Amino acid sequence: MEEIKCIGCGVEIQSEDPKKEGYAPAGSLTNEELICRRCFRLRNYNELQPVSLTGDDFLNILNGIGMKDGMVVKLVDIFDFNGSWISGLHRFVGKKDILLIGNKSDLLPKSVNPNRLINWMKAEAVKQGLKPVDVLLVSAHKGTGMEEALTAIDKIRKGKDVYVVGCTNVGKSTFINRIIKGATGIGEVITTSHFPGTTLDLVEIPLDDGKAIYDTPGIINDHQIAHHLDIGDLKAITPKNEIKQKVFQLNAEQTLFIGGLARFDFIAGGRSSFMIYVSNNLQIHRTKLSNADALYENHLGGMLSPPSGESIEKMPPFVRHEFSIKKGKMDIIISGLGWITIQHPNVVVAVHAPKGVDVVLRPSLI
Ligand code: GDP
Repeated sequence: MEEIKCIGCGVEIQSEDPKKEGYAPAGSLTNEELICRRCFRLRNYNELQPVSLTGDDFLNILNGIGMKDGMVVKLVDIFDFNGSWISGLHRFVGKKDILLIGNKSDLLPKSVNPNRLINWMKAEAVKQGLKPVDVLLVSAHKGTGMEEALTAIDKIRKGKDVYVVGCTNVGKSTFINRIIKGATGIGEVITTSHFPGTTLDLVEIPLDDGKAIYDTPGIINDHQIAHHLDIGDLKAITPKNEIKQKVFQLNAEQTLFIGGLARFDFIAGGRSSFMIYVSNNLQIHRTKLSNADALYENHLGGMLSPPSGESIEKMPPFVRHEFSIKKGKMDIIISGLGWITIQHPNVVVAVHAPKGVDVVLRPSLI
């Protein structure tokens, strides 16, 4: 029998086992544009079916790409750069040209200098062993920068195939949909959703010259904060609009809680201002450093939420990261949440974030 693929996620369609991926009822097999039941439900009810894509499957796909000729577009979420990094990609891509694209630029506050972000991304990529030909910012959601990205892809691919790789939740489906929409005028072909891990198998988008853009499944990075939250909480921490900075003037020995997801202690230094860049929906609570432990203990999931409900149990324990900052202005990034700008030099601060979530320092973007 000829292999039929779901136009939503690219998985092979089967009608034998409703519990396995790619199931579509036998009666639907004659439809011209076939979609698996999982994508059908996601699209119509925003309901997630469990998936069985494992790390091994993903490695097999990466290995497959390694053996093919073409270029790689690596998509990252600029708010979860470290969390959405696919480590070891350079081992698979070999000598292929890589275009690194940071998505979700629409969320950046206007005060951010995009070139600083691009330079930081370039430096981080090199640190991780990857040397992209170019680094760009886009908003797949709004379409900003997409034309530039397509021009860059066309230039870099030199008539070859294009493989788009990225971690779950970086906005890869939204990005691919943009490309398809631009090319064919059809919108929303590939499933996009708030749930991490909703794109399966390779999806092929034919190009004019007989080559294709391939969408690969998103790998699930366990240390993305997104995986520890349920859908409601994920919505709350995922910024929808341009992030507004929140400024706090603090004395030493004061603490800020970002919901119940992270904690920032100002340990030593003169009175300073700190700017917080996280989803506008997240509440910040200020307290004394000496009260912070008790507040967390007594109010996690209540005043300090998200996490809420079942996410409280799923959330890994806090790990403390201390920074002694000699020079201003620096950003402390809490991957997947946002960042805190330290305005003044000569301060000691600590960030507590769920275990596995990267907390790193970079020169301020502002
Ligand atoms: P995938 O798992 O990488 O395929 O990611 P999706 O395309 O499903 O997107 C994940 C989430 O990020 C969804 O909630 C999207 O609405 C959101 N998203 C994707 N692209 C953008 C963007 O450019 N800006 C913003 N603000 N959100 C985006």
